[in-house]
Amino acid sequence: MQEKERKPRVSLTIEQPLLDWINQEIKTKRFASQSHAVEQCLAAVKNRDYSKGLSLDVIESDPQLRSVAPFFHFEQVFEDKIFLKDDSANQTVTLQIKNKQLYCDLDRTTNCVHIGFAWAIDKVRAVLRDRIRR
Ligand SMILES: [Zn+2]
Repeated sequence: MQEKERKPRVSLTIEQPLLDWINQEIKTKRFASQSHAVEQCLAAVKNRDYSKGLSLDVIESDPQLRSVAPFFHFEQVFEDKIFLKDDSANQTVTLQIKNKQLYCDLDRTTNCVHIGFAWAIDKVRAVLRDRIRR
């Protein structure tokens, strides 16, 4: 039998809550494996610029936000709509104002990670502060 050429590898230590999240996302087929998850997350972080108007304080203080933030990009904010890009699913997420609340078209709810993420963006907060009740 021909031996496969081995690529160099490293081992990482991941905290349990993050590992639980990864395993949960594997069940939903978001990731193929634990190493795939780590690679995807790192690639997403590598390809983005964190400094563009994101409140890291807000993100760091929320474990759920912290775990998904690497995938999300803020695209645009209008009078009544916000566009986010979800890299992991390669789709645009539209949030809109309905009855003075921010509503996620994807999750059909007013309370999901996309909304949490949107509130962490300075530019979005500034636009929505007076128009939305939290
Ligand atoms: Zn959502």
